[in-house]
Amino acid sequence: LVEVIDFLKEPERFTSIGGQIPRGTLLVGPPGTGKTLLAKAVAGESKVPFFSLSGSEFVEMFVGLGAARVRDLFKQAKEKAPCIIFIDELDAVGKARGFGAVGGHDEREQTLNQLLVELDGFDPNMGVILIAATNRPEILDPALLRPGRFDRQILVDRPDKPGRRDILNVHLKKITVAKNLDVDTLAGMTPGMVGADLANLVNEAALLSVRRKKVEVGMAEFEEAVERVVAGLEKKNRLINPVEKEIVAYHELGHAIVAMTLPETDPVQKISIIPRGIAALGYTMQVPTEDRFLMRRKELLNRIATLLGGRAAEEIIFDDISTGAQNDLSRATDIARSMVKEYGMSGNLGQVFFAHKKQNQFLNPTQEGSGDYSAMTAHLIDKEIRQIIDEQYERALEILRSKRTILIRAAKSLMESETIQGEELVALEAAVSKHSDFSDDTDAPDDRNALAA
Ligand code: ZN
Repeated sequence: LVEVIDFLKEPERFTSIGGQIPRGTLLVGPPGTGKTLLAKAVAGESKVPFFSLSGSEFVEMFVGLGAARVRDLFKQAKEKAPCIIFIDELDAVGKARGFGAVGGHDEREQTLNQLLVELDGFDPNMGVILIAATNRPEILDPALLRPGRFDRQILVDRPDKPGRRDILNVHLKKITVAKNLDVDTLAGMTPGMVGADLANLVNEAALLSVRRKKVEVGMAEFEEAVERVVAGLEKKNRLINPVEKEIVAYHELGHAIVAMTLPETDPVQKISIIPRGIAALGYTMQVPTEDRFLMRRKELLNRIATLLGGRAAEEIIFDDISTGAQNDLSRATDIARSMVKEYGMSGNLGQVFFAHKKQNQFLNPTQEGSGDYSAMTAHLIDKEIRQIIDEQYERALEILRSKRTILIRAAKSLMESETIQGEELVALEAAVSKHSDFSDDTDAPDDRNALAA
């Protein structure tokens, strides 16, 4: 977005060098995270006009109007360039074509087609920047995401604790707050809330204070307001559950610590457990240090062990496992299956290619999954995949058992701040292993009990 602002301020700098600014930027994130505000801020910062439209408005229009509206919008914008066109709720108009009920979607489809025509027809160097927002990127028509259209995506996720503290500070300026109000504690009480929820919370607390005839808003009002807002959110099926938060924290750290310990894995950049963020429950971000075209057998095995680290941590800490590992298991199994069937990396099956040819799939989809090998080989393949997974799971368990102290300490700090940077985890490990001569794991169970309490 800074790049977009730079371009709008000094387009010559880009055009003189022959560069092209990306045509379309897509802001992706849950509702209420401030995508519209962000787009407006870009316009404000660049001091250019801001044209906005909401996707849902198009859908309600009479036949033919939506497309005409899109045409008009681009025409107006071109006259006022440099400027920003903002399309909110892009998914309402940009849903993939050809799905859903038959008929009745003509209007939306026409509008989408017109939008694609306009997207292809304008030269971004003349200063019209297109920004769109969606909370459902997965249902967008792939045509919209093709290079030259909305090819740049920016994640606007739910804020973590420091983020919520900053947002609260902005809203608190508008009301008279008690001097002893601890914004940090307040931020800690509001996991999963987005900017809109926090604004609502501050307002709710102010209203309560008025009702109680107080001159300033204190912690008691905020506590009650949190309860009200959370109850409202729970109705919307967004539970903020501390038990789940703990499981997710250990699960994510399981991935991170295994990745950190094994050689030649991508470095861990960030671990997050922001509730109901864009990535469902939590995520561990590993950044590849370089583009890869070849993977060695050991690297693939390390990758499987890392994927299984989440579940392994759950087993070690809770002596129980959760459904949270579904996607990990699916990815780990895919790798193991490819190793056995495609890469000839299984000792018992040798250098034989077992994956059946994909082009048959279309002609004869019912045959999918069966290959050119005997039932006995099929059985062996399954056994090999199972063995790879089992061995790597054992490895993950072993690593995490030996790093239990780090796991528990890091989980504590992750639950506190909701995100940890990779370097913090590395520093923590260095600190713990330095002292491991004096204190072993004996203090770990106490930590754990304190958390559970
Ligand atoms: Zn996982």
